[in-house]
Amino acid sequence: MLSGLPGGAGVNIAHEAVDRHAAGPLQHRTAFRWIGESGDVQELTYGRLAALTSRFANGLAALGIERGDRVFACADRIPELYIAAIGALKHGAVFCPLFSAFGPEPLYQRLERGDARALLTTGRIYRRKIAPLLPRLPRLQHVILADAAAEGTIAYPRFLDAAPDVYTIAPTDPEDPALLHFTSGTSGMPKGALHVHGAVVAHYATGAHVLDLRDGDLFWCTADPGWVTGTIYGLITPLVMGVTSIIDAGPFDAVRWMRLLSEQGVTVWYTSPSAIRRLMRLPPGAVRKEDFRRLRHILSVGEPLPPDAVAWGREVLDRTIHDTWWQTETGAIMVANVPGRPVRPGSMGMPIPGVTATVLQEGEAGAVGVVQDPETAGELGLAVGWPSMFRAYLGEPERYERCFSGGWYRSGDLVRRDADGYFWFVGRKDDIIKTSGQMVGPFEVERLLLSHPSVADAGVIGKPDAMLGESVKAFVVLKSGIRPDDESRRELIAFSRKNLGAAIAPREIEFISSIPRNRAGKVMRRLLKARETGGAAGDTSTLAE
Ligand code: AMP
Repeated sequence: MLSGLPGGAGVNIAHEAVDRHAAGPLQHRTAFRWIGESGDVQELTYGRLAALTSRFANGLAALGIERGDRVFACADRIPELYIAAIGALKHGAVFCPLFSAFGPEPLYQRLERGDARALLTTGRIYRRKIAPLLPRLPRLQHVILADAAAEGTIAYPRFLDAAPDVYTIAPTDPEDPALLHFTSGTSGMPKGALHVHGAVVAHYATGAHVLDLRDGDLFWCTADPGWVTGTIYGLITPLVMGVTSIIDAGPFDAVRWMRLLSEQGVTVWYTSPSAIRRLMRLPPGAVRKEDFRRLRHILSVGEPLPPDAVAWGREVLDRTIHDTWWQTETGAIMVANVPGRPVRPGSMGMPIPGVTATVLQEGEAGAVGVVQDPETAGELGLAVGWPSMFRAYLGEPERYERCFSGGWYRSGDLVRRDADGYFWFVGRKDDIIKTSGQMVGPFEVERLLLSHPSVADAGVIGKPDAMLGESVKAFVVLKSGIRPDDESRRELIAFSRKNLGAAIAPREIEFISSIPRNRAGKVMRRLLKARETGGAAGDTSTLAE
């Protein structure tokens, strides 16, 4: 159960995640165990985590960071990132993680739109990506470097050493903002979804009933905290549940991952279809079932989990992989295969208790209605009011309002529901790209390409890819006089990687003579996709020429 702040002073995620455990019998339990690429291990107990996060909160107070100010982090999976997150929540600041593989342009967009006041990062990221942005970010006053010293920044060890390790969390209303997560849209730049402290009720409920976390579990969520799954289920929820988590600090490596699962004795494992697809390529015999005796529960999120992945789990790990569905805006798992209910391979399960999900279709004048017939595809809608629902898109009230209709939140995902109430993912309603489980907004990539002096026009789509789910592909119209050759292609790919980072940059560029746009000037990515996949182009009546 959750406890609430002492004296009825409200609810604060950091208290539920760390302080209440540190004050009780769990204080000596390991909260996190970081495992480096070479096998080096670092651990923090709940008690130590409470002290370090209190220091961080006191440090923020000393810098003049106030409640509601935004504290960002951009780092690999290092302990300092986890300490900064909980420390910021303790202090009542809003924590926002940024994926460390982003290039300078996506970092700038998010730091600027999120009005960052403080940032924790590493020396390497600072030198290569952040320092050049600082003249454009006058409101970012404090940069804390976890592992280095540089002029004009704060060294993390000094920051912590100077601060007391006791911090009393101020009264926190469940509606006080806590977390900011940027997510991609198809039109416009990334949206900042704002979440509140009261969301911890949903973290707890899903931690108990979907992840099935129990006393003594060893949990592993493989997502990076730069993405919402890595923050909510890789950082907050296991702490709220008082279990021990392992964190693989190194990059993905199929053989090492399998070894970690067995050697560490992981009991509950939350991963993704893109990771499973890569593990499925391991030679048969590389994995022995008996190594996974302690593994009790496996879950997946981020993309559809195909039936062959479920079959692989049963064959190789002797366990059924449970698909779960949610998104940045929902703040916690909403639809899931829960333990005890039979899994239908390929289905994402049913709405969890307390969540009402339905299939919506647009009727006259944009009004939405509920689809009654089973097996009819429509938009996945959720009845408004669950505790972890996002409360705003930062600075974009109209964009937020457009997500709701008739008491339903409209997810943008297309699904169907079978006669027994199981939900099946059909696709996205919009052009958002999911590559390796990560959302990429095509607009953000198109905008960068258009800033290159050789580019006259650009359209970006997700191209079906056996390993990545989708890969980012750009169609480019070059300015007259520029040759559509390999050199131009290499130049544009390098330019994209440098500015956007490898996670977002297109892997493939095709030169074409014009980009299909509608009369309002919007790229008709549907037509580019049809060209790529040989599919039907659909309605072309709004094409400009
Ligand atoms: P994000 O906000 O980055 O977490 O991405 C959320 C999106 O990922 C959803 O709107 C879906 O399109 C997709 N997604 C998440 N979980 C699943 C799932 N279990 N099956 C299919 N798609 C999923």
